[in-house]
This record gives sequence, C-alpha cells and structure tokens, in this order.
Amino acid sequence: MNDIKTWVIELRREFHKFPEPGGEEKRTAARVEEVLGSLGIETRRMAGTGVVGLLRGERPGKTIGLRADMDALQQNEQTGLPFASERPGLMHACGHDTHTAMLLGAARTLAGERDTLAGNVVFLFQPAEELAQGAKAMVEAGALQGVDAVFGLHVFTTLPNGEVMPAGSVAVFPGPVAAGADMFRVTVKGEGGHGAMPHLAADTVFPAALMLVGLKGIVTAELNARDPVVLSVGQVHGGTRFNIIADETWFDGSVRYFRPEVSGLVREKMTRIVQGTADAHRVSAELLYDVMVPPTINDGALARLAEQVARQEVGEIALIAHDPIMGSEDFSFFASRVPGAFVALGAGNSAKGAVYPNHHPQFAVDEDALEVGVRLHVGFARAFLARP
Ligand SMILES: [Zn+2]
Ligand SMILES: [Zn+2]
Repeated sequence: MNDIKTWVIELRREFHKFPEPGGEEKRTAARVEEVLGSLGIETRRMAGTGVVGLLRGERPGKTIGLRADMDALQQNEQTGLPFASERPGLMHACGHDTHTAMLLGAARTLAGERDTLAGNVVFLFQPAEELAQGAKAMVEAGALQGVDAVFGLHVFTTLPNGEVMPAGSVAVFPGPVAAGADMFRVTVKGEGGHGAMPHLAADTVFPAALMLVGLKGIVTAELNARDPVVLSVGQVHGGTRFNIIADETWFDGSVRYFRPEVSGLVREKMTRIVQGTADAHRVSAELLYDVMVPPTINDGALARLAEQVARQEVGEIALIAHDPIMGSEDFSFFASRVPGAFVALGAGNSAKGAVYPNHHPQFAVDEDALEVGVRLHVGFARAFLARP
C-alpha cells in the first residue's frame, strides 16, 4: 500500500468524481464498506446508506465514535478540476468527500494499532447531513450504542468573516460551535372578495404582513440580547390578482440560535403574536414550528482534549481563533446524545485557488489538509482511549 497521504487523496478524488445526494450514497457506502472490510473492520448498514465500522482493541477500555458525512449537494461543479464531478447537477461542494476519505485514513492507521488499543473505535459514516436527517436516523437506529464520546471535523476554506482559513489550521473551542435551526410556517385564512369592498371580506395579506413584522420584533424586543438569534422569513405567498382580496396568505422562515432553550421561547412568543394578530383582524391562523437541528455544543473536557491533540499533531501555530457559526451541522444529533467535540479544519489556500466558501460551485480544497484531518481523528481516538 502506498503512503497514507496519497491513499487518502486518491480516495477523496474518487468520491469527488461520483457525488451522491443525501440518502442516496449507495456507491460511496459500498466503497466505504469495501475499504473497512479490507482493513479487517466489521461493518453494519444503518439508516439506509449509513455505515458503521467497529474496530475492537485488544485491551478493554472505552469506546470512541469518529464521524464523517458522505453526501453531496445538488449543484453543478465549476472548478474545472481533472477529478471534477462526473454527475451533472451534483457536486461535493461541502467537502464531505474529504471527510469520508480522512476517516478511512484514520481507520487504516488505527486498524494497524489494534494490539495496543485499550477500547474500541466506532467509525460513523452517515448519510444526508445536508438534509439534517442522516445523523438523527443513525442515532435512532442505535449507532451510538456503547459509544462514550464522539468526535467530528469539518473542512472550511473560509472563516466566518470571509477570510481564507489556511490549510491545516485548526479551530476548536468549548460550548456552542454551530447553531440550532428551526423551521416555521404561518398560514393565514380569511375570506376573499372585491378589492373595492374589504369590509365584505376578510383580507389575509395585511394581517400576514403585521405578523411578519411582529415576528421580527421577537428578536429585538423579547429576547435576551446576549442570546444570538437570527429569524429570517424566506418566502411570502398570498392572493391571485391585484383587485381581489386574498383569502389565504402564507409565509415561512427559519430561526437559528445557540442555546437550546431559545427554540421553545421563540415558538411560544410566535404563537402569541400570530394568534393575537389573527384575532385582531378577523382571520384564522395556523403556526407550524419544527426543530430541524439542535445546536452543536462542544463538551468542555473533550474540546480541551481535541485542542491538546491539535497542538501535539500540528503544532501551536496551527490553532486559530474561530467564532461559532450561525449555520447548522447535524453532528449535533450525536453530540446531544453523548459528549462530543466538533473541530473546524482549514482547507483554504489562495495560491491553489482554494478560496471559495463551502457550497460555492467553485469550492476546492487544499488537499494538504487531509493528512492533518487523519492525524486529528487518530490522535483524538488515541488520546481519548488513553484517558484513565
Ligand atoms: Zn454543507
Ligand atoms: Zn458540510
């Protein structure tokens, strides 16, 4: 076998060529099973295209879960890379191809240390991260049974402020790292009529507009300013013609936050404002509110352990400051079940054109970062299992 760095890059390029959308990671999952099998690691299928590998150390100890996501995004790749997507309309634009390859690299290294390992390593290859469904389905299927802690990482080419995140740099900190995300939809129902005679109808556009403004006001007037919250309305639909009173109007949007309790607070306030406004304007209203992904919150001790590993494996210089991101990561379904640590791994490089943010059609990574990711996974497993 060639050296691990080249091996991981080759695997990554293969995954990159054949991207698959969430829930349809058939080829990827089969390849993951094949590689794990060749390393003597037993595998189980879970949640459709999810794969769980179990490496049993020869000495007793705890069990660490290492996680990667495998899905791609529905978009056309515009990188012009020689190993660019061969599937029109699909692209690994979030780096999940690198995550899968790096975790296989870690599996290869750790499989060679079986005789000295005190405890087990569970490799969690999950589907459908971008749909926020894969991790949840894996947890419900029992992927975390016997797992004491979970570790994950994500490649980023840019920092939250838009600057390039240098390849091989590492950011890890305790507490919230990615936001929780809820989705809501408000449907207002009234009675149609002639635009000239609103008194004979029950307009829905006007109260819906007031509700929208009222909901925006929750953030500025009703929540603790020390709790970051983003409430965005994504679409509004109502009516059919300029001179007809609309009998139905609906709008939907998302709410993002770091403290799990905020979700319930927003929902409660939203219900009051929607119902109160409907009553005041002779219409009825229905609010649908769903928690899509809880916030990703790093366990304090595990975040410190991950930081020590990064310092040891990559050096103090690699550690950089990073803010929590307002986006979401379904790793939170694992990390809200067992203590977890989620690490941001830099994969940007201006000299190599790796400057476009994740989800951009020209998203590319500096593959030198992959070796660092493998070392982080391996180092974290070793360090966690070595703990008394
Ligand atoms: Zn993504
Ligand atoms: Zn991602």
